[in-house]
Amino acid sequence: MTEKLDLISEGKAKSLYETSDKSELLMVYRDDTSAFDGKKKEALKGKGEINNKFNAFIMQYLANNDVETHFVKLIDKNESLVKRLEMLPVECVVRNIATGSLCRRLGVEEGIKFEEPLFEFFLKDDDLGDPLINDNHITAFGWGTEKEIAEMKEITFKINSLLCKLFKEVGLILVDYKVEYGRSDGVLMLGDEFTPDGCRIWDAETGESLDKDRFRKDLGDVVESYQIVAHKLGITL
Ligand code: C5P
Repeated sequence: MTEKLDLISEGKAKSLYETSDKSELLMVYRDDTSAFDGKKKEALKGKGEINNKFNAFIMQYLANNDVETHFVKLIDKNESLVKRLEMLPVECVVRNIATGSLCRRLGVEEGIKFEEPLFEFFLKDDDLGDPLINDNHITAFGWGTEKEIAEMKEITFKINSLLCKLFKEVGLILVDYKVEYGRSDGVLMLGDEFTPDGCRIWDAETGESLDKDRFRKDLGDVVESYQIVAHKLGITL
């Protein structure tokens, strides 16, 4: 029985609690949904449960394909047990198709398909609006080492190959996504989550968004769209 002890941190959609084992934390997925650095907020019934199960499925799929992650096991409908990590304050974004902040920032056309996936680092800082940073910023400010930068890129690209294939097989396009990494005993591994809150997924036939863009753009049926993706991937809800 995993005990939920002190609350360590409350993010925009998840809360982290201590457990009786110092090396493990309880991650609780809430229904809270936010966008635009927390400026738009709403609780969407059932989203926490879907995201918890979605994340468990993806993390286990990645682990089965030799990607080391912090995920330990599902505990309850909204709760998972994870390894305690020392998180790096950076977000790794990979894009297969141009959209979102990339198009706004560079004034490039939406929908350009990249020959090779495009990688970007952002600083994890809501007050600053998560600015784009480069490798030099990471080493200069001690947010990570050169070795960790290389590892983050290598693992994030590997995740992209694995998940693009997985999604394609069920008629979905993985457009882009964000992942985060942390250290456990000096070993870098995937932390945080992989859910439709942090990626863009389009229906391959219709081009319809089935991810958090539905919330950002007020398209409705947010949770229903996450359910469609989960169902296509064979995730039991
Ligand atoms: O907004 P932008 O186009 O940079 O987002 C790229 C990808 O990273 C999207 O899938 C988005 O959901 C995800 N992302 C995220 N958390 C952020 C920034 C981006 O999950 N803070």
